[in-house]
Amino acid sequence: MRVGIAEMSHETNTFSPVVTDLARFSGGRAQPLEGAKALAVYRGTGSCLGGYIKVAEARGHEVVMGIAAGAPPSGPVEDDAFEYMCGRIVALAGACDALLLDLHGAMVTRTYDDGEGELLRRIRASAPDLPIAVALDMHANITEDIVRLSTLVTGYHTYPHIDMDSTAERAANKLFDALEGNTQICMRWGNAPMLPHVMRQGTDDHPNRALQEQAMAFEAEGALAVSLFTGFPHADIHDAGLSVIAVTDGDAAGAERIVETLLDQAWDDRHDFVYALEPLETSMARACELAQSPGDGPVLLLDHYDNTASGGTMDTTDVLAAVLEAGLDDVAMFGIYDPEAVGMMQAAGIGAEVTLELGGKLPMPALSRESRPLRVTGRVKLLSEGRFPATVAMSRGLTMDMGHSGVLSIGGVDVVVVSRHIEPFDPGCFRAVGIEPTARRYLVLKSRIHYRVGFRDLVKAIVECAGLGVCTSDYSELTFEHVRRPIFPLDGVNSRRG
Ligand SMILES: [Zn+2]
Repeated sequence: MRVGIAEMSHETNTFSPVVTDLARFSGGRAQPLEGAKALAVYRGTGSCLGGYIKVAEARGHEVVMGIAAGAPPSGPVEDDAFEYMCGRIVALAGACDALLLDLHGAMVTRTYDDGEGELLRRIRASAPDLPIAVALDMHANITEDIVRLSTLVTGYHTYPHIDMDSTAERAANKLFDALEGNTQICMRWGNAPMLPHVMRQGTDDHPNRALQEQAMAFEAEGALAVSLFTGFPHADIHDAGLSVIAVTDGDAAGAERIVETLLDQAWDDRHDFVYALEPLETSMARACELAQSPGDGPVLLLDHYDNTASGGTMDTTDVLAAVLEAGLDDVAMFGIYDPEAVGMMQAAGIGAEVTLELGGKLPMPALSRESRPLRVTGRVKLLSEGRFPATVAMSRGLTMDMGHSGVLSIGGVDVVVVSRHIEPFDPGCFRAVGIEPTARRYLVLKSRIHYRVGFRDLVKAIVECAGLGVCTSDYSELTFEHVRRPIFPLDGVNSRRG
């Protein structure tokens, strides 16, 4: 059997001003990888594509490798980028007997609220009966079209996402089992009127840990695939929020029962999915106290309003300004996105003192507060091409790329200034530029939950800091226009069924 494999993956933050063009999907190349080159890059990696390739080859199928297009989260996808990616995948669909797709599930384009649904509509127009398996991120916002137009859908069970490859392996295996006549795929889905807060979605914590354990327990009991999607609230579309997809072997009533059970459990826990805000000054004071307390390792400050892996500009400076003002010393921060500042640092050279306007370059019209550059004077400590091999399992086998980068030493604070958006979940991001994170008194990361993969065990305490950014944890800073209402916690909702 000829098995097509392709990726079109983007988590769209509709409040983000960061442009999402084809270059962002291309990882620094002219176009996204495709064919033999993509196969060589992704085979054996911990990615969804790696999982698909592994299963398709192990089961003796001929792999027809399509486009591998994944972009870091940012604003709505430009139409020409979307048209290009769809065109490549529709062409692939016409040349294979089954299709394995790595989609995110929260893609919004300039024209379409449901990018994945639109892709599937186009595939179905020319390939109505093609078996299609879809692997989705846990932050997928599920729509009727995604479920109706796919043969099988499944999603991650972990956040941080450390089961991307095994999710794709499950999708492929269950599809192939059905095509071999061993099972009969029966898929049901439903959603609840709730927007779980991303900071409360980690699967190490209540309530999502128990929800994912229950989903996996249903799979262990014989369901083919059970996925609870916590959703992505910053994609302001009608269907944003929590949903469940259950796939059983020919048992429609069983699938419906699983969906209802998980939705009920999530709804009962809805208040535990709400994030409690803390003023920045309080967080800074707490960080100082924690640094005095016994225990090894740095205190980690999370600048989580500006997380690049949720669409942040990665260039806001409020938390950095507070750190400098509070006089914290022995600090390493990752990072500030500012290609212009990197250029100035390169021009000045290592060891030179520079004064520059750092960050705050990208206006954020979706927010009422303004992002401003921070005028700083510092010493250029190190310059780098910014590429390093992943050192955590989540990105096994892949090269991380933060673009041309430099370390700017501002008093006791070393700031990594980068020219590509990258979430710092891998301690390699510091080590690649000569900073040993465990040796510092404080670390500052622009991250929300993924930092846990590489940093949680290295630090003695974590302080969440309310800075500035388009993945703000304070929903009152945003104007939701499209999500269905009423929805918890934006509105008071008494019943899951409205
Ligand atoms: Zn995600």
